[in-house]
Amino acid sequence: MAIRALVWGENVHERRNRVVAQVYPHGMHQTIADALNTDSAIRAETATLDQPGHGITPQRLAQTDVLLWWGHAAHGDVSDAVTDMVCNAVWSGMGAIFLHSAHFSKPFKRLMGAPCNLTWREAGERERLWLTTRNHPIAAGLPDHFELENEEMYGEPFGVPEPLETVFVSWFQGGEVFRSGLTWRRGAGNVFYFRPGHETYPTYHDATVQTVLRNAVKWAHNPAPRLADPGAAPNVPVAKAPEPITERGPRLHHDGAPGLR
Ligand code: ZN
Repeated sequence: MAIRALVWGENVHERRNRVVAQVYPHGMHQTIADALNTDSAIRAETATLDQPGHGITPQRLAQTDVLLWWGHAAHGDVSDAVTDMVCNAVWSGMGAIFLHSAHFSKPFKRLMGAPCNLTWREAGERERLWLTTRNHPIAAGLPDHFELENEEMYGEPFGVPEPLETVFVSWFQGGEVFRSGLTWRRGAGNVFYFRPGHETYPTYHDATVQTVLRNAVKWAHNPAPRLADPGAAPNVPVAKAPEPITERGPRLHHDGAPGLR
C-alpha cells in the first residue's frame, strides 16, 4: 500500500500576494503534493487553513502516515485543538515534516519545546546545501551539494533541541550557515525539518528539493501500528512487578491509581 501523505498548507500568501500567486498558482501545498504523487509509493492529499477545522480531524490523521506542514503568515490562526491533534498523532507514530517557516508553527514549537528562533534576511541569496552524510535515506540519489539560486537566508543559532541527525547544512551568499535538514523522534513519531521554501521563490518546483521531500516522506513513515494512548502513564502495582518485591515505607497512591498530572 502507498504511503499516505497529507500536505497541509496555510494558503494565505498564495491568495494575497501577486508574486506568490504567480509562482504557485494552485498553492504551495498542491505543488508539493503533485511532486510527491510522481512516486507511485506515495499517495498525497492536501488540507488548508481555510477549510473547516483546517482540514484536519482525528480520523483524517489516523489515515495519514506522514503530515507535511507549511505555514508562515497565520501560525496564530491555527487552533489549539488542531495543534493537540497533530502532536498526539506524532507521539502515536505519525511522521511529520515541517517546511521552512513552519519552524514557528504551533505544532513544531510544541514538539520541540523550544523557541525555534533563528536569524533571517530576505535578499534572494544563493543557498548551497551540503550533505553531511552520503548514506542517509533522506539524501538518497542526491549530489554532495546542490544550490538554490534565490532563497531567504536563515542563520544560526537555530533554537531547537540537539537533533537526532543533521542531514544538510546550508551556506548563504551573505556568509551565514544553517542546519537545514534535521531529524528528531518525538514519542513514536519521526520528525524532519527542511529549511528551504520561501514563498516568493520557486523552491518547491526544484527537482532536487522534490527528491528530498519524497525521500523524507519515506523516511518519516513508521509502518508500526499507531499507539492508542501515547501519553499513558500506568501504575504498576507491587504484585505486578517483573521481579517479586516486598513493599516498604509509606505511600501516597493506592494500587492502580491514575496518578497526578
Ligand atoms: Zn520565508
